[in-house]
Amino acid sequence: MAWRHALIIDPAASDDPRTDYASTLRPIDPAAPALSIGELSTQRGDGIFESIGVVDGHPQEVEAHLERLAHSARLCDLPAPNLGQWAQAVAAASAECPPGESVIKLILSRGVEHGPAPTAWVTAATAPDNTAVRRDGVRVVVLDRGFDSGAPARAPWLLLGAKTLSYATNMAAIREARRRGADDAVFVASDGVLLEGPTSSLVLRFGDRFVTPAPGAGILHGTTQLSLFAHLEGRGFETAYETLPASALGEADAAWLVSSVRLAAGITAVDGSPLAYDADVTAELNAYLLSPRD
Ligand code: PLP
Repeated sequence: MAWRHALIIDPAASDDPRTDYASTLRPIDPAAPALSIGELSTQRGDGIFESIGVVDGHPQEVEAHLERLAHSARLCDLPAPNLGQWAQAVAAASAECPPGESVIKLILSRGVEHGPAPTAWVTAATAPDNTAVRRDGVRVVVLDRGFDSGAPARAPWLLLGAKTLSYATNMAAIREARRRGADDAVFVASDGVLLEGPTSSLVLRFGDRFVTPAPGAGILHGTTQLSLFAHLEGRGFETAYETLPASALGEADAAWLVSSVRLAAGITAVDGSPLAYDADVTAELNAYLLSPRD
C-alpha cells in the first residue's frame, strides 16, 4: 500500500463551527512510527474508525461517514468527535490523493492507557485495485456469527452496531471463507437471520425490489448501501430494510456485498451453489458508486 499522507488531530480543539482547524492538524510522515507504545487502540483494539473511498481526489459521502463516526463514538462512550475538525482533516488528506482511487481512514482511539485524552488521526493511501472483483464478483459462504438477533439489544456492550477497531473476528471469518474455497463471507445470526459481510453490507434483489437486512439486528449501517438505495429509488426501484432468513440469499435474483472502497461485488455463489449474477446491473451500480457523491 502506498501511503500518501497522515495527520494527527488535536482532540482539544474548539468546537466553534467557524474555527479554521488547520493549526490543530499536524501532518506526520505516514511511513514513520507515530503512536505511543501505551496506545489502547493497539493494546485492546479500543477505538473506532471509518474508511472513506476517494475517487480522483473526491472523498465520497463524507457527511455519512462522519455521522457514523459520531454514532460509533456514542456507542463506545468516547468523547464526541468534533465533526468540523474531522471534515477539515478529510479535505486536507484528499488534497494529497492522486488521480485514481485512494482510501482515507479516520481513527479515534481511547488514547494512551491512563492518558488524558483520546488519540485521533487520519491517513490517506492508494486503494487496492478492485477492478476484477467488481467485474467478476465474489463466492461467499454463510457463517454463523454466534449471537442471536436479539443480542445487540440485550447486550449493547458487544458494540455490534459500532465500527470498532476490533476487527480480528471479521478478518478470521474471511480466512475461514478462503479455507472453504470462497472469497468472502455472509454472517447469519445464530437464529438464522441474515446480517452482513465481515467488511460489507448485503443487498439482495427480488424482481424490482432491493432489500437489505434491517440494522437493528446488530449490523453496521453501511454508507454505500444508503447511497445505493437513494440512487435506486431515484431510478424508480423499491427499496426496503427487512429481517430475512438465511434461505433468502439463495432465492434472490441477484445479491451484492457493498462497501466504501471495494464498492459493489456481485455474489456469484453461496456455499458452493451458483447464484444468478447480473453483470450489467453490477457495472451500472459501480459506475454510480465511482461518480462523485456527497
Ligand atoms: N458492515 C461491516 C461490518 C463493515 O466493516 C463495513 C465496511 O467496512 C460495512 C458493513 C459497509 O460500510 P460502508 O458501506 O460504510 O463502507
